[in-house]
Amino acid sequence: MGRAPAPTPWHNWARTAHATPRSVAHPRDLGELVAAVQSAGRAGLRVRAVGGGHSFTPAAVTDGVQLRLDALDTLERVAPRPDGTAHVTVGAGIRLHALNAALAAHGLAMRNLGDIDKQSIAGAISTGTHGTGARLGGLATQVVGARVVLADGSVVETSPTRRPELFELARLGLGCVGVLAAVTLEVVPAFRLEAREEPWPLERVVERLDGPDGLVESNDHFEFYWFPHTRRALTKRNNRVPDDDVRPLHPVRSWIDDELLSNAVFAVTNRIATLVPPATPGINAVSARALAPRSYTAPSAEVFVSPRRVRFREMEYAVPRESVVDVLREVDAWIRSSGERLPFPVEVRFAAQDDLWLSTAHGRPTAYVAVHQNVHLPYARYFRAVEAIAAQVGGRPHWGKLHWRDSAALEGVYPRFADARRVRAQADPGGTFTNPYLDRVLGPVPGGARAPRAA
Ligand SMILES: Cc1cc2nc3c(=O)[nH]c(=O)nc-3n(C[C@H](O)[C@H](O)[C@H](O)COP(=O)(O)OP(=O)(O)OC[C@H]3O[C@@H](n4cnc5c(N)ncnc54)[C@H](O)[C@@H]3O)c2cc1C
Repeated sequence: MGRAPAPTPWHNWARTAHATPRSVAHPRDLGELVAAVQSAGRAGLRVRAVGGGHSFTPAAVTDGVQLRLDALDTLERVAPRPDGTAHVTVGAGIRLHALNAALAAHGLAMRNLGDIDKQSIAGAISTGTHGTGARLGGLATQVVGARVVLADGSVVETSPTRRPELFELARLGLGCVGVLAAVTLEVVPAFRLEAREEPWPLERVVERLDGPDGLVESNDHFEFYWFPHTRRALTKRNNRVPDDDVRPLHPVRSWIDDELLSNAVFAVTNRIATLVPPATPGINAVSARALAPRSYTAPSAEVFVSPRRVRFREMEYAVPRESVVDVLREVDAWIRSSGERLPFPVEVRFAAQDDLWLSTAHGRPTAYVAVHQNVHLPYARYFRAVEAIAAQVGGRPHWGKLHWRDSAALEGVYPRFADARRVRAQADPGGTFTNPYLDRVLGPVPGGARAPRAA
């Protein structure tokens, strides 16, 4: 197994989390992963796996052994099912872009995806990563099995019928019960989406959101970006179309929209907004008007995923679906009265209710309100204000995005929180897999207070 010289400083994509692990291990197979966990246990060191480092929270931070599972990235098994879906087992370290490519090679695809594909599958499910769609859940709802390495090095296959309580936290639990070695996903036959992106007045979006014919229900995947300081929004409606409906975006138009306007020009306008904050409302107004409608079809993963090259900080709250318009109105009112200048849009997405214990969409149809700030600008005042607004309606923070809630607050918004704490304490009584962030959001584990011993 490759072992890098220690200590090795690490930081996440957003530079909001830093760590200097005692050592870094790069297991190449299950045996080496088990050996790494056992060796850390003998040394009294804590263990955290890190995926793509794309969480904004310090969820992956450790002062003990950092596990990099990039080599556990193979497609292990494809089990077709009579209804056309398939159960696909992949190494937990596989990045979503590699997963999407591997699935496409088998004529398969993930049912739904988020905005980017740089994450590992393990990191994405562990934090409740989601896309949008009123009839669809997040990535963890697509998990039907997980192979977990526990603190003593034992390897457990979990599923809804095998160790179901452990499975709950294996599929969405911040890695608190063990290290995921492999994940089995229920995937669907490959499909094409028609993307329709149109700038709309915000009030029109709000008026047409609800009801059986509303934007949320009548589209497979609906989301919108509202530009603060303006009354404009960019709407995105993605719907399934037949495989022979091939209307690709012209490569030049694609480059202009996705690279030039969304990244290069956006970087420049953000730079101006950083240097001259009062210019921000004007810049947002121009940006919102510069967006031209477009429509095209493409394989699903190409429509879901966009490049994100302007670095930012983000907080995202899951709120009850029926509260989202009120939440947005309050956020708008706060921004107007605060004097804050915000060059990044607010992203609004939707999800079906699910029953995963720690899912942000547990037990209720959900809307997600995501706020962003440029990496060079202060974010805390804005994000805290939005957090306070979301908290009033029982909002739940994304586990991988910035927030200030702790276990006492989260207990009140997750009906199965006590069960999650119980199973975590049973699975990891010594706190091998904890860190300060997990202690904060899930509470301390009984044996987790020990300081790591020298290796
Ligand atoms: C630009 C950008 C865009 C994003 N877009 C979206 C989006 O559209 N939707 C959304 O919901 N989120 C989004 N996110 C958030 C992101 O999907 C999550 O934070 C996700 O966890 C990142 O995956 P990762 O592989 O980078 O995990 P990391 O951040 O490396 O780790 C996340 C957690 O998973 C644990 N973990 C990692 N691997 C394992 C393992 N093998 N076993 C056990 N635990 C493990 C880590 O210890 C940590 O607790 C975005 C983030 C960024 C930076």
